[in-house]
Amino acid sequence: MRYAVLSDVHSNAPALRAVVDSFDANGVNSSVCLGDVVGYGADPVEAVAVIRKLCDVVVRGNHDNAASSEEFGGSFNDDAGEAIAWTRGQLSTAEASYLGGLPLSASYEGARLVHASPLNPGSWTYITRMRDATAAFRAFEEPLCLVGHTHEPVFYVTDGKRRRRREIPRLRMKHDRRYLINVGSVGQPRDGDPRASYAVVDTDEQTVEIVRVPYDTELAGRRIAGAGLPASLAERLTSGR
Ligand code: ZN
Repeated sequence: MRYAVLSDVHSNAPALRAVVDSFDANGVNSSVCLGDVVGYGADPVEAVAVIRKLCDVVVRGNHDNAASSEEFGGSFNDDAGEAIAWTRGQLSTAEASYLGGLPLSASYEGARLVHASPLNPGSWTYITRMRDATAAFRAFEEPLCLVGHTHEPVFYVTDGKRRRRREIPRLRMKHDRRYLINVGSVGQPRDGDPRASYAVVDTDEQTVEIVRVPYDTELAGRRIAGAGLPASLAERLTSGR
């Protein structure tokens, strides 16, 4: 089977639609989501509805957590906090409790799924350095762990002794290695490439591929402006930073 791994949709409906439209061309049979369905963008209700219907498994991100209850304001910067407060006002009680009730960690087709890190998933730590990846490798048993949260796609590989970090579009998994893979962000990429990012895992071929999909960033930006959300949240969609 070939399943899509979506993360950090962040209420960006134009990006999410473009990603779903690309599934057929990429032979995708099913999909999962690594959280941060909402936050930053202007379409939280559509993002929740699409992800809920589409994905076999969804885990909770820090923005989902914060949007689900005022108790979980969290440590957000001003723009993110403003977007979370606005998002809370858009979501129904049922949508908010759906997000708040998502699991922090799940397994799917032999892979571990988590938003930030398999090490204390609810503390939302960022895996940005090899040191973080080394600690994360000790916190899951499976050969493959899929994460999001940093919005930058990257592959970490270990043979049990050494670890390597690779920024490549595709790799074939070997039996004697383990993998920690960040699938990037559908709705707010930060690696300098504004195209939506997701991964396709092929369980027969044992490959993982990062797929990039162009979408109408101007439209998503206009929707953010129209919702009265901070202009910086629209601007970063066109820069991919
Ligand atoms: Zn995020």
